Amino acid sequence: MAKGALPPVERLERIDRFAKLGLLLCALWPVLASPAAIPPLPVPAFAPYPGVRVEEYVIAGDTEDQIDQSLRGSPIRNQVVPSEQAIAATWLEPEWHWSRAVDAQGRCKPVDIEVTLTTRVMLPRLLDAPAAIAANWRVFRTSVEEHEAGHLRIGFDGKARVAAALAASDCLLAELNARLTWHQVEREQAAFDASECHADIETGYATEASCVPYDAAARSR
Ligand SMILES: [Zn+2]
Repeated sequence: MAKGALPPVERLERIDRFAKLGLLLCALWPVLASPAAIPPLPVPAFAPYPGVRVEEYVIAGDTEDQIDQSLRGSPIRNQVVPSEQAIAATWLEPEWHWSRAVDAQGRCKPVDIEVTLTTRVMLPRLLDAPAAIAANWRVFRTSVEEHEAGHLRIGFDGKARVAAALAASDCLLAELNARLTWHQVEREQAAFDASECHADIETGYATEASCVPYDAAARSR
């Protein structure tokens, strides 16, 4: 973003706080509430990834404080630790199928390999954003979209790697290798979150020092 296009400092800091909350713990979590009954906004960052189902939950507020409060009502909860909350989430469910065939050397090899990836992303939607905060909201929402797109990138890359692992295996080890490959993908998702932001899990907010990409913007002025 060009520097001249940045919002005022105090607004940016608030948006940064949103982002820190939003980028925390956001992968692979279930949503307990129903999605909003309005068509979701198109997300350009998801364009490289076919079939992504986008859902939104509606938040409201006329001021950034109210929006901040509304985001805290996010329906996204960690199924294992319900007190942990996120304001955006990406779910990736891989499935693979293959058949057995005996090759020229007499080995059993997987053939007709098919790997599918069911994807779902939940994002916050602010309806009728007041003019005073609309631009800041767009910056925030875009940053969340781009973060979730990072999870999709890792997931779709992982889908291809699962297919390759199956193709490289014999029948006996095919399932094991596919599962190990996807477990590695999940570790990469966690590392991606750790590199993007920086969780102070107890409070739900990242600490200043731990959130480099956003703090760098704040420190630059
Ligand atoms: Zn994340």
